[in-house]
Amino acid sequence: MGFGLVPITGWLALDPLVAALVAFNILCTGYRMMRSSIGGLMDEKADPEAVANLRQVIADQAAGAIEAHDVRTRTSGNMTFIEFHLVVPGDMRVDDAHDICDRIEHALLQLGDAVISIHVEPHREAKHHGIRVL
Ligand code: ZN
Ligand code: ZN
Repeated sequence: MGFGLVPITGWLALDPLVAALVAFNILCTGYRMMRSSIGGLMDEKADPEAVANLRQVIADQAAGAIEAHDVRTRTSGNMTFIEFHLVVPGDMRVDDAHDICDRIEHALLQLGDAVISIHVEPHREAKHHGIRVL
């Protein structure tokens, strides 16, 4: 490209100038392309409205449990990753605790694609600052 311009314009400075502009344009385009493709791959915070919504779902579905805390969410593409601790009475049967987890998971999945992990804790671990179920 640069080759053809010099004889036509007779302006020698144009050649490196055009080359620099073309290079700059390639850099900018490349940067934008990279940003948009990486943005879809990188973890992003779930939006606050969605978080409030899923906290409500957890509270609604957690009957039998005492508290949910350390709720963490992030999104990657269309997928939401949800993690939290579920505090249950220490003498609750695993069967029953698992039923609560399944119920919450099922309800959360109605909101959209999600990978959910729930850490069940006995009552003495309660932090009393999470989602109160009672
Ligand atoms: Zn905990
Ligand atoms: Zn299960």
